[in-house]
Amino acid sequence: MSAFRSPRQLRSAREIAAMREAGLIVWRALKSMEQAVRPGVTTAELDAIAAKTFEDVGAEPLFLNFPNATPGWPVFPAVTCISINEEVVHGIPRADRKLAEGDVASVDTGCKLNGWCGDSAVTYAVGTVDAEKQKLLSVTKGVLHLAIDLMGKKSRWCEVASEMERFVKDHGFSVVEDFVGHGIGREMHEDPQVPNFCSKRTPRSQDFKLEPGLVIAVEPMVNVGVKSVKTMPDGWTQATRDGKPSAHFEHTIAITADGPQVLTAGPNGEL
Ligand code: MG
Ligand code: MG
Repeated sequence: MSAFRSPRQLRSAREIAAMREAGLIVWRALKSMEQAVRPGVTTAELDAIAAKTFEDVGAEPLFLNFPNATPGWPVFPAVTCISINEEVVHGIPRADRKLAEGDVASVDTGCKLNGWCGDSAVTYAVGTVDAEKQKLLSVTKGVLHLAIDLMGKKSRWCEVASEMERFVKDHGFSVVEDFVGHGIGREMHEDPQVPNFCSKRTPRSQDFKLEPGLVIAVEPMVNVGVKSVKTMPDGWTQATRDGKPSAHFEHTIAITADGPQVLTAGPNGEL
């Protein structure tokens, strides 16, 4: 999902409060799906839970009918992306795809409420997972929490991103570079692009100033093995090239005068 069209904008406190309402609905959808995650549940059943959550409050699902980056490929057919094990992002929910004991399942969804967007992802363990997958989940969630913390302490994004990359590498894993986070507001994907790494090749537009009013979706994708991904035959699902597992966590985060505010946290600030 990579249609960056709207230019970067800073949001007022009132606009951020409106985005918080959208973010809370996204949190609720993910929480409802989490409660249904178990061996044997289909990814289509999980998708229906998110669809119902959005429908009940009149929120518009942002992923449904999202255009493919490759011309001629079909639009995205579901409300969530559900990506299992070696799948990194953009997995398509299906009635014939069941979760199994020991899987890790990344669930990503977003909605627009009263004209404002929220976007968040969580990777769930299905039953008991092996030690490597447990570590993968804790490192990927950990690097998102590190980013949130650093967003209140650093002045530019690249300072945050380089520490994210180092944290992941220090744990022996790799950061996906083919997909990145994004600005978010009236549209799900706005400028700037928000990489989870920083190098000499990083364009200046991706080393933006962290200032009050900035709202971005930060979404590290971490692989156990190589960082490279490939597109599967369905035209959407991205999987690791070496077939090793991947995890993905995402929050929509605003910078305010009081520091970072996670707009897709739970009602009591649960991350
Ligand atoms: Mg997302
Ligand atoms: Mg996103």
